[in-house]
Amino acid sequence: MGGVRRWTARADGAATVGGVTSDSAATVTADADIVRYRCAACGNLTRFNVVTTRRTSAFHHFSVGGDLSIEEVEVLDETVEDVTCRWCGPAAKVEEISADAPA
Ligand SMILES: [Zn+2]
Repeated sequence: MGGVRRWTARADGAATVGGVTSDSAATVTADADIVRYRCAACGNLTRFNVVTTRRTSAFHHFSVGGDLSIEEVEVLDETVEDVTCRWCGPAAKVEEISADAPA
């Protein structure tokens, strides 16, 4: 898989980076600018594969045993490179929905 690091933000706020789990304050949230998506092909509003480049600053807190806990994650820069519908794949067009737009 090369040097790709996986970053998974879970609903409970914990984050996983490259298999290292942080249960503490590592929250990856975009509180202000949440962009929602909609698949123009199937109308899906909830399932997307999103490719993001994210530059972060974080406090890496190691235990004496070497376990890593990542805390105080601050997103310095974030670029969404690609969004595809989970069901339709790359062929379908995915539109952004503005959070402010009337439903
Ligand atoms: Zn779709």
